[in-house]
Amino acid sequence: MQLRIDLSGRDVLVTGSPVAARQAVRRYEAAGAVVFRLSSPHGGEHDGPLPERPFLVAAVDDGQPGWEPLLDRCRAQGIPVATEPAAGPAGHVTLVGGGPGAAGLLTVAAVEALRDADVVFYDRLAPYQALPGLTTAELVDVGKRPGHHKVSQTDIEKLMVDSALAGNNVVRLKGGDPYVFGRGGEEVAACVAAGVKVRVISGVTSAISVPAAAGIPVTHREVSHMFTVVSGHAPLTSTELHHLAGLGGTIVVLMGIGTLHHLAAGLRKAGMRADMPMAVVERGYRPGQRTTIANLGTIASAAAACSNPAVLVIGEVVRVAEANRDHADTSADLDRLAASLLGA
Ligand code: SAH
Repeated sequence: MQLRIDLSGRDVLVTGSPVAARQAVRRYEAAGAVVFRLSSPHGGEHDGPLPERPFLVAAVDDGQPGWEPLLDRCRAQGIPVATEPAAGPAGHVTLVGGGPGAAGLLTVAAVEALRDADVVFYDRLAPYQALPGLTTAELVDVGKRPGHHKVSQTDIEKLMVDSALAGNNVVRLKGGDPYVFGRGGEEVAACVAAGVKVRVISGVTSAISVPAAAGIPVTHREVSHMFTVVSGHAPLTSTELHHLAGLGGTIVVLMGIGTLHHLAAGLRKAGMRADMPMAVVERGYRPGQRTTIANLGTIASAAAACSNPAVLVIGEVVRVAEANRDHADTSADLDRLAASLLGA
């Protein structure tokens, strides 16, 4: 259950050890409360003045014994006590798949990891606009720096590792799923090599969700019983093109705008029909989402004005979308869902 209470200007006493309570303190401060601290149930810590009668006690579950009598006294006086999770053990990294850009397609685990973060390193394919509503962590854009220089992969890994070694809970928020063309494996390896604890939270990949945003199911009974996800970052070899053309299932291409010409011509040469349906879905779940539908023979000219980020879909499933057109736009629904669940 989530409750929204206006805390602006209200005295809130946050109890719990400094390490466990640091994120709860930031959350209550961000909500406008006047935060007082009690780090130990036995007092004696230099926590500064305490309020006469706080509006709310936020009790962080820090594992110290002895809080209960104090909290019971508060309850007996009619002061509400909210229990707060402790900040996770400091100094680890969580790779979080952020989905294709809609806050509603973040997982519950992703939302929790963001809430518990001290620092978030994100790039532009992740739903970064929602971050201020989901976390009080420091937000670092590693996709582009102010001077438009991309931070190199090595530098990203070093930033993450150094921040975790300094005691922060680090979230690396990535677009889609961390292990689908996301360099997640490399980032895990960098953490392991540095002795930093790391875990991975899977995300909703754009390979499936962006076609869905355009109403295209990647599989469909009696139409396609397999799908292959391909990177278009580098042109495919003719062997790869022949294999793909021979499979007969759906082909989904990420990062494929730059090599679209080469791919369409190559699949034709490898024997695929010129009238095989093909779609380009640009900016899935974002303002300006656009779907261009053509076929293998005509796509190069039909999609001449298309730009990244986009997902290409080649296969008969594209026709299913045309049949289901009325149902295609789900992004507004997802945003409403996210707003009601997260208050984002
Ligand atoms: N790990 C990511 C993919 C990273 S590669 C995932 O699982 O989704 C980056 C490519 O993902 C882009 O070039 C584009 O092809 C695709 N992509 C990601 N988000 C997208 C979006 N919202 N709309 C269209 N394409 C998207």
